[in-house]
Amino acid sequence: EPTAAATLASPPPPPPAHFVIVPLVAQGHTIPMVDLARLLAERGARASLVTTPVNGARLRGVAEQAARANLALELVELPFPAGVDGLPPGIENVDQITDKNHTVPLFDALKKLAGPLEVYLRGLAARPSCLISDWCNGGWTAGVATSLGIPRLFFHGPSCFYSLCDVNAADHGLHKQTAAAADDQEKFVVPGMPVHVEVTKATAPGFLSSPRWEALWNECMEAMRTADGAVVNTFQDLEHQFVTCYEAALGKPVWTLGPLCLANRDVEAMASRGNKPDVVQQSVVTAWLDAKGTDWVVFVNFGSLVRKLPKQLFEVGHGLEDSGEPFLWVVKELEVEAPEAREWLEALEARTAGRGLVVRGWVPQLAILSHRAIGGFLTHCGWNSLLESIAHGVPVVTWPHFANQFLNERLVVDVLRVVVPVGATSPVMVFDDENVPVPWGDVARAVSALMSGGAEADERRRKAKEYGEKAHMAMEKGGSSYENLTQLIESSGKVVAKKG
Ligand code: UDP
Repeated sequence: EPTAAATLASPPPPPPAHFVIVPLVAQGHTIPMVDLARLLAERGARASLVTTPVNGARLRGVAEQAARANLALELVELPFPAGVDGLPPGIENVDQITDKNHTVPLFDALKKLAGPLEVYLRGLAARPSCLISDWCNGGWTAGVATSLGIPRLFFHGPSCFYSLCDVNAADHGLHKQTAAAADDQEKFVVPGMPVHVEVTKATAPGFLSSPRWEALWNECMEAMRTADGAVVNTFQDLEHQFVTCYEAALGKPVWTLGPLCLANRDVEAMASRGNKPDVVQQSVVTAWLDAKGTDWVVFVNFGSLVRKLPKQLFEVGHGLEDSGEPFLWVVKELEVEAPEAREWLEALEARTAGRGLVVRGWVPQLAILSHRAIGGFLTHCGWNSLLESIAHGVPVVTWPHFANQFLNERLVVDVLRVVVPVGATSPVMVFDDENVPVPWGDVARAVSALMSGGAEADERRRKAKEYGEKAHMAMEKGGSSYENLTQLIESSGKVVAKKG
């Protein structure tokens, strides 16, 4: 029992560590950083999520849940910079863009948030402990953190395997070599990797399609090098050797804290994740899945950005139809705007009624992947989707489309071996890319191979479930990601020697 005098003399408890989180305004970047904010708050830290009004509206559900749970998680909405050349008003998220010429102006607009962010930070009663900004926001947040004298970590969305390829490619001039290649399919070995990794011009890391992109990418890479460390949505048991090599390549701590999606433990949290206005009613999907057997259905979803043209949708649909397997397929409203696409899809739905369910819009992907009826996932290999599948022990068919997706595929094909590749060797870019690299026969073959029984499929499923268990263990007390988060909160992002 402390005496009254001792109680009076003891200093007040230190204020909780305060993390200011600045996600990129794209669902695949925002969603895991929101999960991170929730985890930090659950573990006793304070988390402020910096965003803009259109994006803030999508996060309202998360903020309300956090408030009900008495978590110190708040949304900070900075007004979206007005009057940026070439950007129509109202566009505040990458997924709202329908004309590729608006992409660079959106990034130009984001840079103008540096001033308002600094004003917000200076107006706080106490200086925050640490800034965690998406690596794509690195260029404009680095100066703000320096001017306030607070540690800055960058959040890198993809796997350490990818990030290591990216850093090594930059250090060894691989981008220049691939850019100079006459043949898209000429093979290059990624230098400095602990395993053999091959890319082609079409699948190489980087996003350097124009000088303006290249300038932006260079700024982000530079901000990565000057940051105090990295936060990555992965876990040690998944890619330990690449985490170690990435940490060595950067020369700074890499905090592996994932799978961050496992921060969502109840159906409400899962359903409000990445909430968008066109969210499909969870109950429709759940009722349909509830009536299916365990590991019965293949789930098909291509992330927040991929937009298929009618002829590309056609290959997916016919592939699913021909596979003979039960499927749950998510199609974007934009993809079936044209009357011929709509009519064709309705006819396909009629032919596959009972066996297949097609939903239009945004679905609660995490809740779906955690449903016992889902036995496989046909994915575009966005890192969140892959990791969400791994975390739930669901084996996948890989169909990378662009950016880091091809290298994410290499990790799960060559290293983890829990997948069936569809065989995509060339990209389909986000806007109006006419390329049809994967015919429906390949879709049908890969889906059948994944979902049918047999020794190989059973072994794949067993391995996937094992990774799912390891993922859950990483996030539980004593697990690598849990303990890394403890250390991160205790050190507030300052450079410390990590234990794990
Ligand atoms: N997502 C979702 N519902 C959808 C489509 C996507 O919840 O209908 C989520 C998905 O669970 C993941 C994120 O959006 O967390 C997409 O990120 P990913 O890295 O897989 O792909 P990207 O959208 O960046 O291409």
